[in-house]
Amino acid sequence: METLLFDAKNEGSVEAVANILKNGGLAAIPTETVYGLAANAFDAEACANIFRAKGRPGDNPLIVHICDTAMLSEIVSEFPEGAKRLAEKYWPGPLTMIMKKSEKIPDVTSAGLPSVAVRFPAHPVAREIIEKAGIPLAAPSANLSGSPSPTTFEHCTHDLMGRVDAIIDGGSCSVGVESTIISFAGEKPVLLRPGYITLEQLCEVLGEVEVSHAVLEKLEEGEKVLSPGMKYKHYAPKAQVTLIKASSEDYIKFVNEHAGKGVFALCFDEEAKMLVVSTVTYGSKFSDAQQAEHIFEALRKIDESGAEKVFAHSPKASGIGLAVYNRLIRAAGFDVIEI
Ligand code: AMP
Ligand code: MG
Repeated sequence: METLLFDAKNEGSVEAVANILKNGGLAAIPTETVYGLAANAFDAEACANIFRAKGRPGDNPLIVHICDTAMLSEIVSEFPEGAKRLAEKYWPGPLTMIMKKSEKIPDVTSAGLPSVAVRFPAHPVAREIIEKAGIPLAAPSANLSGSPSPTTFEHCTHDLMGRVDAIIDGGSCSVGVESTIISFAGEKPVLLRPGYITLEQLCEVLGEVEVSHAVLEKLEEGEKVLSPGMKYKHYAPKAQVTLIKASSEDYIKFVNEHAGKGVFALCFDEEAKMLVVSTVTYGSKFSDAQQAEHIFEALRKIDESGAEKVFAHSPKASGIGLAVYNRLIRAAGFDVIEI
């Protein structure tokens, strides 16, 4: 398949991509979290093509993107009170809410679940494309299944050239990790995936929020989960990654003692010059927002570096750091050393 490449800065690009989507095509588009691989959320065939292009397991549902809360009426059968309050505060933004789905959402989009995930992105290009297409867009991250989520146009072309109809460049993603996911499909709100909108911020609006144990812990073989995506070992680098929970001082000492061929450190900016092994940095140790912004790019760099063994310095598991920790512990296959 020929993949058309666009730049959002050029006149007519957004319209061209919106038309491709309206006509049942697939396009990778920028959002503030990561790039998404979009298709018409109401078109079962187009959504089935998303799964094919990514190599995504069919039981992992897609997030439906809107550009106006009025669009919700066709997507969900109920808009719960708590979800309304969160929407007022955090939409448009990096927050996905799961609600009971309407009949109009095909089973392939929700992977057969009675619920649907909805997000109203803040990125101007994403919003304009949805607006111009005039339909909600189902869009998972625009990476091949098993690769880190793409945060630049180049990541998308690397993974999806020849597999989708179009890719549009909207610059690099400012948030860098996928959206926070909260479910309103059950009795109580449950945090299924941490992101830039923090657990602390959700609790401020809702009072109590349950945290799915899949956020921090490894699932048992065959365990049933609320969020099917959690059971896959996403973001798996080629190298063997171990997450090191330690102070900067202890981390540096540990890594330098374990230096050797093919050993890399995935560390904070401030630590690189003190390490005797090759390093890839993912932001300042003082900024969890920066760590989120750079983590996926850093994981891709690790893959390209030929690293065999990676010691990753663990971020703090609170605030936005909880999102970074959640992605890294999966990249490490839950292999953790606490010093
Ligand atoms: P991605 O778009 O690649 O970031 O993945 C979307 C995530 O949302 C996956 O982890 C899915 O399991 C989750 N998700 C989407 N729809 C639902 C739903 N109806 N119920 C629970 N989780 C969902
Ligand atoms: Mg994904």
